[in-house]
Amino acid sequence: MRKTIIAGNWKMNTDRASASELATAVARGAEALPGTDTVDIVLCPPSVLVPVVGERIANTRIRLGAQNMYNEPKGAFTGEVSGEMLRSVGCSYVILGHSERRTLFGASDLDICYKVNAAEGVGLSPIICVGETAAEREHGMMPHVVERQVRTALDGILEFSVRRCVIAYEPIWAIGTGENATPDQIAEAHSFIRSILADLYGAEVALDVSVLYGGSVNRDNAPAIMALPDVDGGLIGGASLDADSFLSIVRAAIG
Ligand code: PEP
Repeated sequence: MRKTIIAGNWKMNTDRASASELATAVARGAEALPGTDTVDIVLCPPSVLVPVVGERIANTRIRLGAQNMYNEPKGAFTGEVSGEMLRSVGCSYVILGHSERRTLFGASDLDICYKVNAAEGVGLSPIICVGETAAEREHGMMPHVVERQVRTALDGILEFSVRRCVIAYEPIWAIGTGENATPDQIAEAHSFIRSILADLYGAEVALDVSVLYGGSVNRDNAPAIMALPDVDGGLIGGASLDADSFLSIVRAAIG
């Protein structure tokens, strides 16, 4: 059965002291919440702060993730970090293909595919972000864009390893804007993603892959979004920087 996952994408925020404080607050709050054993709570700090957060959440149920990685294991790739490095500091997840990586740093579908394969190869669970721009949605291109992104990202990933992959549907127009997709839009996109997975791997395997929603999730809209049938949790940006807000979203995912 697929997991429910609430992952916090801290983006380029916090420093040693505030990352430490936020991670401690989330870990303490989660300990006090009944039902957290049914949810993977993942913190994805900036890569330089991963070990700091790792120390704070050691011996708790909170999992550690990164926001990006390169697909080569090591070598002359100035400024990059590898999947092996992330594993060595305790990461079990890595966000790949976030729209900010695609639009601001030129990550292509193929780049993301290489990274997904490299992440899976070292035992990391890639959280693969897909989603359309406002213009693409206006022109009815959501299915075309999302299908291309999902199929390309998973090229080379076999049936037995796709269960470790996570898809995050993140419409770009909803990220950081305060305008979340409606429940109908989310339900349509998630069921479409599930159908692509079923086409690639069969219906049974498709039911085992977690599909998260991301885009302006907050404590107020989380209960309705998390209750949707094909939504298996969320990738949370802004609201993950406040422990109380983030934990409210975890609570909504527990149900
Ligand atoms: C994100 O960056 O993945 C995201 C979903 O951001 P926000 O929650 O702030 O919209």
